[in-house]
Amino acid sequence: MKQDLLSMRGIIKSFSGVRALNGIDIRLAAGDVLSICGENGSGKSTLMKVLSGVWPHGSYEGEIVFAGQEVKAMSIRDTEAQGIVIIHQELALVKELTVMENIFLGNELGPPWRINEESMYQQTLALLSRVNLSISPDTQVSELGVGQQQLVEIAKALNKDVKLLILDEPTSSLTNQEIHILLDIVRSLKEQGIACIYISHKLDEVLALSDWVCVIRDGDHIATRAATELTQNDIIGMMVGREMDQL
Ligand code: ADP
Ligand code: MG
Repeated sequence: MKQDLLSMRGIIKSFSGVRALNGIDIRLAAGDVLSICGENGSGKSTLMKVLSGVWPHGSYEGEIVFAGQEVKAMSIRDTEAQGIVIIHQELALVKELTVMENIFLGNELGPPWRINEESMYQQTLALLSRVNLSISPDTQVSELGVGQQQLVEIAKALNKDVKLLILDEPTSSLTNQEIHILLDIVRSLKEQGIACIYISHKLDEVLALSDWVCVIRDGDHIATRAATELTQNDIIGMMVGREMDQL
């Protein structure tokens, strides 16, 4: 058994007394891809918001350990500092700024170091090539398509020394070609030892990409299995509550 990069234990999260997560456990090793499957409203995004610090420590029950340290994040900034980066379905780039400005946004608020414009430009070019985007760092984000923006978000994540990338339904509005590029990027990140949690309704993508598939239903953890042991029907059965032997 590989050593855990991440373990979440007994995660419970309620909204106004209603439980969205009912005590979820997940584990992940470096370089592994884990997909989380579940019907709409089953709790996938909530679990990832707990992990990424959108929901701060204290607003949920349970324990998160990442790279050997307990995570008690109060914000996304705290988890990013530990190497956990989430890309939400709703894109978060500032459309009026350029690609380079977006990639470095927030960095200038950090400690008293500054990198000059030329090295920012070169670094942006290198990041864009890692995500297979041949656009100028000076391109305004509003000029890009949704798929290109998604890739810029990943480039931005790579600039933060990411150890775990969380993609919450990244392909729902991408073209087939963009989906292929995205999946290739996740595979190459995996080769670099970067772990990924992937949320998608497209089960063919899920099975092609993942090492592990975790199914949650109504806030309960149903099962986590090796992707090679599962068919799309198995996953759907667990999502909707049919037993495996009835399929
Ligand atoms: P999924 O991502 O699997 O579609 P979510 O995690 O978004 O599901 O939602 C799980 C449950 O938690 C749903 O019942 C949803 O209505 C509820 N929920 C999610 N976010 C909030 C919130 N900010 N306030 C109240 N309820 C929420
Ligand atoms: Mg969701």
